[in-house]
Amino acid sequence: MNTTTGAMNSSAFSPAHHAPRLLSGWCSTGATATLVEHLRRYGPPALGTRTSPMSVVEAVEAAGLTGRGGAGFPTGRKLRAVAERGGRAVVVVNAMESEPASLKDEFLLTVAPHLVLDGAVLAATVVGADIVHVCLPRTRAVQFGQLRAALDERRSARLDPVRLRLHALPHTYVSSESTSLVRWLNGGPARPQGSPPRTHERGVARRPTLVSNTETFAHLALIARYGADWFRQAGTPDEPGTLLVTVSGAVAAPGVLETAFGTPLDVILDRAGGRTESLQALLLGGLGGTWLPAEHLRVPLARRELAPLGAAPGAGVLVALPRAACGLSETARMLAYLAADGAGQCGPCRFGLPAVAEDFAALAAGRSDPDRLSRLRRRVGLLPDRGACRHPDGAARLAASALRAFADDIDHHLTQGACAAAHRPPRIPVPPAVPPETWR
Ligand code: SF4
Repeated sequence: MNTTTGAMNSSAFSPAHHAPRLLSGWCSTGATATLVEHLRRYGPPALGTRTSPMSVVEAVEAAGLTGRGGAGFPTGRKLRAVAERGGRAVVVVNAMESEPASLKDEFLLTVAPHLVLDGAVLAATVVGADIVHVCLPRTRAVQFGQLRAALDERRSARLDPVRLRLHALPHTYVSSESTSLVRWLNGGPARPQGSPPRTHERGVARRPTLVSNTETFAHLALIARYGADWFRQAGTPDEPGTLLVTVSGAVAAPGVLETAFGTPLDVILDRAGGRTESLQALLLGGLGGTWLPAEHLRVPLARRELAPLGAAPGAGVLVALPRAACGLSETARMLAYLAADGAGQCGPCRFGLPAVAEDFAALAAGRSDPDRLSRLRRRVGLLPDRGACRHPDGAARLAASALRAFADDIDHHLTQGACAAAHRPPRIPVPPAVPPETWR
């Protein structure tokens, strides 16, 4: 795995910052940083006698940190909302990383577990929590052992003023939803819960609960140590800081790298060893993300620039699709997986998504016709904003962007049957389209 770090200059944006951030140094070995190594590099956790909880909230707000799990919600606002509820709160580290094309949380926890844990413990202190739950997918048994060792190190050092608990949850596409984690921690299935109250009001054990992504906590730990101005030295004024990106597909060195917001997509591909083939499109944000035709390679990785294209950084996933692949077939497999992995609790997941996946599969296989294509477009338009969570919205985004990005291929598939590329082996790994074995 490629694990480069640092950030790049982009002429259109503020100069990127090369000082050590999340991965720098650690990733050169790929080994887990021990607590001693971690403290030697960063010093003790930031919340000491000279720092008050609310000053941490203010620093995070001034830094402009946003959640790195995909939604991009302002972290300072989240912290404040839970802190202002009063009473004993709960903090949850969302390390579920259900997006199949993302490896960044797994990698970050492997090399720098104490940075994540520092941030989570700091957040607990800020919001008045006495416990931090760290939620991992059950499939990552090795990582579970590594984290258990990291928790033991901290316990022996009497480092943390709060309890830390590790959990292994069933791994499905929707089990990383914050409400899925709360439901599971409360003894239920790891399925999203759409109805109020919201997690920050009443979550785990009916207490105000802060759920954030693994990477977000690591940034929080560094902001508390180095301040908002330091954080803003990388990225754009609108979107400060760095983010972890998982790059895969037709690049020489696929893997996880750290880059500044605002870095052009082609520069990120160069950092991942460069393109190995001529590209036809990029998948940005993951399986619930957006296809961008290759003509947009120079677009910066920033919400403001991506929004007009219907895209967003999401959880930092970038997949390079070569010209030799069939974008329709790749999308059809993704939609089949997303349909199978929905929780089946709401109409769009039970009926809409499987119908879209089926129509898309027919299109990819050259078995569609103009009427069926019109029905597919109509159904895709009906998916968003109807589920209790955003799962159908992501699938609709993927399908709609594929219909745009691969418009020329659609004509071919309708008039001449599936293209030659559709008969070749798939280029993007997608889990099998089978329903989850268990939600508990
Ligand atoms: S939309 Fe799908 S995944 Fe989301 S809550 Fe409803 S059934 Fe579950």
